[in-house]
Amino acid sequence: MESKIPMKMYIDGQWVGSSSGREFAAIDPATGEEFERVPKGNEEDVKAAVDAAIAAQRSWRNIPASQRGDYVLRAGLLVREQLEAIARIDVKNVGKPIREARREVGAAATAAIYFSGMARRMYSNVVDSEQPEKFTMVVRRPVGVVGVITPWNDPASLGMWGLAPALMTGNTVVFKPSSNSAVISAELVRVFEKAGLPKGVLNMVTGGGGEVGEALIKNGGINMTVFTGESATGRHIAEVNAPLFRRQVMELGGKNALIVAKDAELEVAARAALYAAFSSAGQKCTAASRIIVEEQVADKFSRLFAEQASKLVVGSGLREDVDVGPVISRSQQENALDYIKAGESEGAVVLAGGGTYEDEERRKGFFVKPTVFGSARNDMKIARDEIFAPVTAIMTVSDIDEAIEVANDTRYGLSSAIYTKDIKNVFKAIDGIDAGMTFVNQGTVGPEVGAPFGGAKDSGFGRELGEEALEHFTEKKTVFIDYSYGDRPWYFGLPRG
Ligand code: NAD
Repeated sequence: MESKIPMKMYIDGQWVGSSSGREFAAIDPATGEEFERVPKGNEEDVKAAVDAAIAAQRSWRNIPASQRGDYVLRAGLLVREQLEAIARIDVKNVGKPIREARREVGAAATAAIYFSGMARRMYSNVVDSEQPEKFTMVVRRPVGVVGVITPWNDPASLGMWGLAPALMTGNTVVFKPSSNSAVISAELVRVFEKAGLPKGVLNMVTGGGGEVGEALIKNGGINMTVFTGESATGRHIAEVNAPLFRRQVMELGGKNALIVAKDAELEVAARAALYAAFSSAGQKCTAASRIIVEEQVADKFSRLFAEQASKLVVGSGLREDVDVGPVISRSQQENALDYIKAGESEGAVVLAGGGTYEDEERRKGFFVKPTVFGSARNDMKIARDEIFAPVTAIMTVSDIDEAIEVANDTRYGLSSAIYTKDIKNVFKAIDGIDAGMTFVNQGTVGPEVGAPFGGAKDSGFGRELGEEALEHFTEKKTVFIDYSYGDRPWYFGLPRG
């Protein structure tokens, strides 16, 4: 069930402890108990990892892309083979229910397999030259050393979204996972090791954002940052990257709206909204944390939704019947409770949930009742801030135009959704909502590997997944080949004697 191999960092093909010998505890969010010790890396460890990645760069990029893709393919297939074991570590480390963990780990395997295939489709272009006897083409080259920094909420899939395309395109990587998910993140590194990846190509340093993350972004050996996390952290990293003109992909926070039109199948919409709001205990960048309903159906929808929310099974993710697990930490739990209080004091009404559990099983863990607010307004704190917990707010609007206006009244722009059968509403949402993704008759969650994933406004820029990855992880070089061996009309001519 638990990782049997002691948890270490991975630098230059070796599993090592921190150079300082310091460690921190990995805590099971369902019990509040320590289950593993993790090396607490520092600047020196980051330097060793970056140096190893730089040293491995030349030989890795010289391997044909198809062969690099084969390493990534083997890693993806290994994730599939070990899916159950890895999913159980995911549950232990971040608390998500096992059924969800299986899907998440499955998605990590799919991402690796998808990007391995792309290695044989690394197309570029030939431009018809403006001059005769001249050939102009564009070749792709890896960016160099990529720092991949991930959060803890979907550690397997988000890790693989960065690692697989970065490696396949010929970059070497220093991976810095969240301290809250270091144990499951190490499983990704293990599959690449088993896949036979040469030493130094992938390195992992564990430790806090302030120390390891900061040392990584400030290390001049890094050529690109792939960051997934909070908007505030992303902004700070972007400020460090800017004077270096360093490439970056920023996958940041969200405050995603799910619109329910009056013509929607309300039962279906409620079930979808339930999953969108409460899967991963609401700790998804794409979580539906604002549900905007047309007034004609608002009461009926709210009743249905709140009823279903209060029936969700909440408990340890290792139980097959559990729908919602704990949040990641005690501080995240306290944060959620503060938001619930703020919602109440601003006049929203708790229709379901609204607190923690006192029974023996759930008291020690970091559980929060799936909480539904009714009578919410978009200017309330619960509708403005990303809560990252199982808390969602229902708001009522008079029509779809107002719904879109409310959906857009946020600093975020990651995901969005609309439930409707009216084609006019569908296109109004597609055209009108300022977000990286709009789902029609699906909740705000559930991306597909072949399509770009990412956001607008404070939700970041750049896209993961899909063909876009090729653009992000490669530099284009334009090559002009003159095969006339002759002079061109604009030359100075022979030097005058
Ligand atoms: P976070 O920003 O606190 O941490 C993310 C990562 O950045 C961690 O590995 C952390 O250690 C590191 N970090 C922190 N400070 C750093 C610094 N100064 N320099 C370098 N690295 C640093 O985010 P979190 O709490 O782990 O994750 C939750 C957030 O992630 C939410 O805002 C959520 O919306 C967002 N998220 C976004 C996406 C997306 O694809 N858009 C996906 C998942 C999560």
